[in-house]
Amino acid sequence: MLIKLQDIDSEIKRLAARKGYLPEEKERLEEEKASFEQGIEEEKQRLDVLNQAHGDKEKELRGNIESATKTKGRLLEVKTNKEYEAMLKEIENINKKNSSIEDEIINLLEEIEKAGAKLKEREGERVEYIKHNERDITKIDKELESIDSLLEKMLAEDAQCREIINPDLLKRYDVIKEKRNGQAVVPVWKEVCGGCHMNIPPQLYIELQKYEKVRLCPNCNRIIYWEDKENNG
Ligand SMILES: [Zn+2]
Repeated sequence: MLIKLQDIDSEIKRLAARKGYLPEEKERLEEEKASFEQGIEEEKQRLDVLNQAHGDKEKELRGNIESATKTKGRLLEVKTNKEYEAMLKEIENINKKNSSIEDEIINLLEEIEKAGAKLKEREGERVEYIKHNERDITKIDKELESIDSLLEKMLAEDAQCREIINPDLLKRYDVIKEKRNGQAVVPVWKEVCGGCHMNIPPQLYIELQKYEKVRLCPNCNRIIYWEDKENNG
């Protein structure tokens, strides 16, 4: 009965811990999903900004070509050599500027291509990611739904167990459980205590196998019992 009680109490402890942990885990998953979506949104915005910059540069280039053409047309109208040279200089400047704009456009197009590929990749991953994320959240919701009734059931079993066990023994059990982090009853196998993993004296080990008396581990003071791991799996 003590072993059974320990099993029930361990399960109650595990369920209570999960009940506390699961809402945090759910929140974490929801935040992770939001930040994934946010990441895609940022990639989209970046692509928009690049496309906008590209459009602006193309426009600027077209404007410059137009004004260069106009200036060339006016070359025939000039009267003085000085004016003529000034105009040639102006055209040369415009051409220089255009060549640097063209370089910028080439760089922008490369960036647009890269950003577009990255966005496409992320959007491709999105479907699978959301599927996993939502499946995990649903799993948590289901577990949370059933955890209270499960806890209730275990607490009822716990109470039943406690009614059967000798009160003095029960008191000892609770004291040890309190001191040993919820673990009062542990198996011993091959002379090793399952609680503290220390060896117990060979004589005690032989006595344990008779199941006659409640025995304590001389090292950690937990209630110990012999568990035949070879025949019980
Ligand atoms: Zn021990």
